[in-house]
Amino acid sequence: MENLNDIQKRILELKKQKNALILAHYYVPLEVQDVADYVCDSYAMATKAMQAPQDLIVICGVRFMGESAKILSPHKKVLIPAIDAGCPMADMVSVEDVLRLKALHPDAAVMCYVNSSAAVKAVSDICCTSSSALRVARSIDKDEIIFVPDIHLAEYVAEKVPEKKFILHNGFCPTHHRVTENDILAAKKAHPEAAVAVHPECRKEVIRHADFVGSTAEIIDFARKTDAPEIIIGTEMEIAARLQRELPHKKIYSVTSAFVCPNMKKVTLEALLSCLENEEFEITLDEAEAAAAREALDRMVRC
Ligand code: SF4
Repeated sequence: MENLNDIQKRILELKKQKNALILAHYYVPLEVQDVADYVCDSYAMATKAMQAPQDLIVICGVRFMGESAKILSPHKKVLIPAIDAGCPMADMVSVEDVLRLKALHPDAAVMCYVNSSAAVKAVSDICCTSSSALRVARSIDKDEIIFVPDIHLAEYVAEKVPEKKFILHNGFCPTHHRVTENDILAAKKAHPEAAVAVHPECRKEVIRHADFVGSTAEIIDFARKTDAPEIIIGTEMEIAARLQRELPHKKIYSVTSAFVCPNMKKVTLEALLSCLENEEFEITLDEAEAAAAREALDRMVRC
């Protein structure tokens, strides 16, 4: 690789020396993405960690992403660079919340977005990602579905799968929830020729104005394939920055400059270097909890 700074070079040396695999989420800073073996979404990070020959895995993302990798690779050492990089949406649902909803709706299946803790996955029937949510919901053989934690993704799925009754939980991603209909209308007014691609974690009044709705990876794919020369991106800003670098012949805009996940920005190059040097911070999980969470993830893959 060319044009690497000293910290990036040191990270790559250590990675080689320790035979580590570095996986980065699309929302961490670009300079961290640039030293990763793969840049992908949270579920792809977990599956790549499982399939890789390396036993030392560094997940450049927030805690639940490290947990998902550990769930699928219980015998590997899984590290996250920033111990305080949590996900507010994942923290918005607890095991007690799920058990209470199950008691209130005993005939419902529990469908759990992967943006959740291992403990919550362990008491859920099936997981979903933003790209698999519609398929997973349609595959469930019950008429009622408790969907946790994201109310916006749940509303999006409920609209597309009207044959099921959804019981919603009031969780949300603060980064996507912060974006309003006025923000999207202002972006469209500023760039009237642009196509609009948004993430289903956005509010429904934002999604309503989109030409394309999809997961982070699907938005990237849409931007690459569309003939539109200008695209407004309705998800975390790092995606717009990444796409602009990759597609210099197109004009890529973020809906708003406030589209930032502060937790993902805690995964700095310095944090990653320290993580590799000290082999911290290691993810550990209760074995029974991890096994139950793995079943919920496996059901998603099989459906
Ligand atoms: S963007 Fe939202 S869902 Fe993703 S880690 Fe940040 S707070 Fe959590």
